[in-house]
Amino acid sequence: MTEPTIHRAIAFAIIALGAITFVSLLFIAAPYGRYAREGWGPKIPARLGWIVMEAPASLVFAALYLLGPHAREAAPLAMFALWQLHYVHRAFVFPFRMRTRPGRTMPITIPLLAIAFNLPNAYLNARWISALGAYPTDWLRDARFVLGAAVFLAGFAINYHADAVLFALRAPGRPAGYQIPRGGLYRYISCPNYFGEIVEWCGWALLTWSLAGLSFALYTVANLAPRALTHHKWYHRQFPDYPPERKALIPFVV
Ligand code: NDP
Repeated sequence: MTEPTIHRAIAFAIIALGAITFVSLLFIAAPYGRYAREGWGPKIPARLGWIVMEAPASLVFAALYLLGPHAREAAPLAMFALWQLHYVHRAFVFPFRMRTRPGRTMPITIPLLAIAFNLPNAYLNARWISALGAYPTDWLRDARFVLGAAVFLAGFAINYHADAVLFALRAPGRPAGYQIPRGGLYRYISCPNYFGEIVEWCGWALLTWSLAGLSFALYTVANLAPRALTHHKWYHRQFPDYPPERKALIPFVV
């Protein structure tokens, strides 16, 4: 079997896995954060869990990228920079921005499942942009790249800001638990951090114009849309005064 055939098969496997993930998460809340509970294996500190599960998406991606014959060309390098903007932040900065309560843990199942996804996903996207995709330099002027990069950066900014609003709720001197987030896109939706993340990877699918990018964007929707619905219902149960006009994930829609 040739590498392009294997690469394609993995991308379709991720799309199929996304369908299974979507249906499963409609019934089972992933057991971390406010839904952390017993029965999902030994626990590790939450901050460490985030670093361990997201680091491969940055480091393994970088190693695979560098092995590609197009690794020093302009268009792949621009894509590499965008990917690393997200994942260096997610693996090595975000865990230290979080205001986790002392002793906060997550079951080891969560990092194990995340790594099992991040490794093939890093392979798919890194190999595509530095080896199999073969982008010419003028791809940087292609409307798909320009628009996709703008969407990606907008999604990153939305995600970053939305998480910052949540972290500010637990600033020193404020209660350690959960409160109603307000301002920015929280005026319209309960989970702008997930919305921003989905926007980012839709931008990636567009700027890479690839099956690898599309499979990741679809998986991100499958992973985060059910969790946004679960968060939204949780807020309504938790806070009787929760803003009734607020949607879960997409402003004015759902
Ligand atoms: P959450 O929105 O559940 O939590 C984010 C952080 O804010 C946590 O530290 C949480 O604390 C805290 N927090 C959440 N809500 C409140 C509130 N109402 N009041 C006070 N603090 C609050 O996001 P996740 O933990 O699920 O995800 C974190 C980031 O990772 C997001 O940016 C998300 O987009 C990204 N992510 C991406 C995935 C992907 O498929 N690409 C998958 C999962 C996450 P606590 O931990 O105590 O609940």
